[in-house]
Amino acid sequence: MIPTVLPTYNRAPLAFVQGSGSWLLAEDGRRYLDLGAGIAVNALGHAHPALVQALTDQAAKVWHVSNVYTIPEQQRLADLLVAETFADTVFFTNSGTEAAELAIKMARKFHNENGQPGRTQIIAFEGAFHGRSTGAIAAAGSEKMVKGYGPLMPGFTHLKWPTSDADHAAIRAAITDQTCAVMIEPIQGEGGIRVVPDQCLKGLRDLCDATGTLLIFDEVQCGMGRTGRLFAHEWAGVTPDIMMVAKGIGGGFPLGAVLATERAALGMTVGTHGSTYGGNPLGCAVGAKVTEIISDPAFLAEVARKGALFRQGLESLVARHPQVFESVRGEGLMLGLKCKPAPADVVKAGYGAGVLTVAAADNVLRLLPALNIPDADIAEALTRLDQAATSLEQAA
Ligand SMILES: *Cc1c(COP(=O)(O)O)cnc(C)c1O
Repeated sequence: MIPTVLPTYNRAPLAFVQGSGSWLLAEDGRRYLDLGAGIAVNALGHAHPALVQALTDQAAKVWHVSNVYTIPEQQRLADLLVAETFADTVFFTNSGTEAAELAIKMARKFHNENGQPGRTQIIAFEGAFHGRSTGAIAAAGSEKMVKGYGPLMPGFTHLKWPTSDADHAAIRAAITDQTCAVMIEPIQGEGGIRVVPDQCLKGLRDLCDATGTLLIFDEVQCGMGRTGRLFAHEWAGVTPDIMMVAKGIGGGFPLGAVLATERAALGMTVGTHGSTYGGNPLGCAVGAKVTEIISDPAFLAEVARKGALFRQGLESLVARHPQVFESVRGEGLMLGLKCKPAPADVVKAGYGAGVLTVAAADNVLRLLPALNIPDADIAEALTRLDQAATSLEQAA
């Protein structure tokens, strides 16, 4: 008999009843150190007092009004994001997938309104993840996500993950008078914490500028302070035309956004897009508090420092457990451990040691702790990861 919850997840037999900072308490009374943070969602940890306050204050006022009215909480968050980024304008969604859908629509609409309606093709990259809608799976293109769901939305070309000049030459060659946009995660999350070198992001910006192609960054996972800058692309000194944001921006409340320049958004006039819940007062009240806290330069400097501290510990973990771990990768607190065994086995060993991690592609174990994880919890994380590795070695 089919489970009453549609069985699309291979769920661990763990259920949590209470969270606090980087810790989760399970039903059976065991405490787990959370290095997954809901896959980079609980950016400020669990039950952050300022976020609980922002949510409950708003909950006592008004939960939902239609987007046919002015929503002050939404206006406030949009103003904050515009002040902190390349963007001139913001549309709020409830998820990363919805942000991907709008990014695609906005890019196509731009060329349509700009007198080049034939420019509809979007270049995306192997190993990408942009969500689970029919459009987002077509954008990512992986066999695992698209199998059986055809016909897929047409208009996507998939190229090799760019790391070299040769890869850039291939991208240049793939851009035609039909090309609408290049869409890329500055750091792939699901793809295995694969960082696009700064030079490559710069090169993409140049290619797009030279050809009138829009550049779309998917910062759903790598954005919102994860790398020690508010957005990961800031390290490369380039900006996109359109950017997708979600996960961390709500700190655990469902919230996403598409940020864009005025020019890229030129087609998005009254009636061209909408959402019932997107930008609701609850989500935006929480999102504004999250954004206020994370965008503080002192907070971001701490993320970078904690990231370096954690990374250093992980390097010695790799040195101590060469049969389990191969190398460390990532930026800030978006870290990956390349594994020898299947990462799912390491995740499982972590459960035994009371530490929560997330598997990714490319045989990588993801570590995406709360951005405000205390140093003592980083030390404890390293101890527990060491225990997990030891248990795997003993079982081998
Ligand atoms: C998680 C993720 C998405 C999809 O976000 P949802 O909120 O699950 O719809 C899109 N892009 C990236 C890079 C992600 O990590």
